Amino acid sequence: MAERGARVASGGSRARTLPEIVTTPDELRRLRLEWTRSGRQVGLVPTMGALHPGHLSLVALAQRECSTVVVSIFINPLQFGEGEDYLAYPRQLESDLALLAERGVQVCYCPTVDGLYPDGFATKVVVKAGGDLWEAARRPGHFAGVATVVAKLFASTGPCRAYFGEKDVQQVAVVRRLALDLDLGVEVVMGPTIRDRDGLALSSRNQLLSAAGRESARCLSRALTKAGEQFRAGVVRGVDLTRAAASVIEQEPGVELHYAGVVDPSDFQPVEVASADSRVLVSAQLEGVHLIDTSRLGSPLQLER
Ligand code: AMP
Repeated sequence: MAERGARVASGGSRARTLPEIVTTPDELRRLRLEWTRSGRQVGLVPTMGALHPGHLSLVALAQRECSTVVVSIFINPLQFGEGEDYLAYPRQLESDLALLAERGVQVCYCPTVDGLYPDGFATKVVVKAGGDLWEAARRPGHFAGVATVVAKLFASTGPCRAYFGEKDVQQVAVVRRLALDLDLGVEVVMGPTIRDRDGLALSSRNQLLSAAGRESARCLSRALTKAGEQFRAGVVRGVDLTRAAASVIEQEPGVELHYAGVVDPSDFQPVEVASADSRVLVSAQLEGVHLIDTSRLGSPLQLER
């Protein structure tokens, strides 16, 4: 484990200071009081680590808008269902801290499971937003796990803004509602999905794929592109666009389609007649890895980065 304030080699001879590593809610709350006293605007980027350019794009957004940026790294057991990949989820704190150091992040909050959920922990935050379909239906209890940990992260960090990725757009809806309903005073900012040049949305879980699996996983973004192309060619019935997206994934050997849908972004219900603002949602499993992706129907995927 890297030590607080240690120097880390980066970019040849350059060395950057590691972020301050905070491991307990109490420690973070103390820092938060200092930040409040000195009028600092705190931005929070919650992550589960195994950082990639998608996470770092949220960090960059936060740095543009806030004077102090906290990145949390916590693999939250509450949001994993039975039989899901909690144990297999990539853990690489050392290299994550080096990446954050390179970007000049000041504070990294890395609590332990026992620290966040001590014996007797009995609270669950259930947010009825983002609909009951798609990820909510496929992973019962997932969003309650997300809302519970995010409520705790907001409570101890006290951010003005918190940054989440569009790839998990249903999660963004849940967190926005949470912030509003509990008067948390946190602006929830959604950053765009960062993709590899071939279209695959970056995800920590991509590391769990073989080279062949990584190739096959491209079918998710191809499915989104297909729906967009059909829409631009004049197809507007939600079921037809859904079928177009689903068939791309179904045709990929070794890939199991979980769902495809064309939905209204306000309530995540399937649309009868699609518009440019409709959102395409896809999810599939391959090599035991659960992947999701999404796009706005009327916008081509942004591939360059
Ligand atoms: P995770 O570590 O996967 O829980 O993700 C932490 C945050 O990063 C969430 O808000 C995700 O939506 C966001 N994120 C994950 N992948 C991407 C990506 N490819 N582009 C932009 N944001 C992302």
